[in-house]
Amino acid sequence: MSEDQLTVTFECKECGGTILTTDDDATDESIVKCKSCGFEFCTYGELKAKSVELAKAEIDKLTKSALGIKPTWGKK
Ligand SMILES: [Zn+2]
Repeated sequence: MSEDQLTVTFECKECGGTILTTDDDATDESIVKCKSCGFEFCTYGELKAKSVELAKAEIDKLTKSALGIKPTWGKK
């Protein structure tokens, strides 16, 4: 499996920005903010947990598409 296959995207509810920022030496308690407007999302620890969830969903989607199974979700 090659690198950079998974993309986890966040979008700011306030301004639609997708760039997040946190402390350089972030701990699980550090606040993660929107780089554009400074809106506070969550803590770094929460973001890590959320990223794992999103990555798992993405892996599930890739696996199902590799097997030719259409995901039951994601339809509009
Ligand atoms: Zn923002």
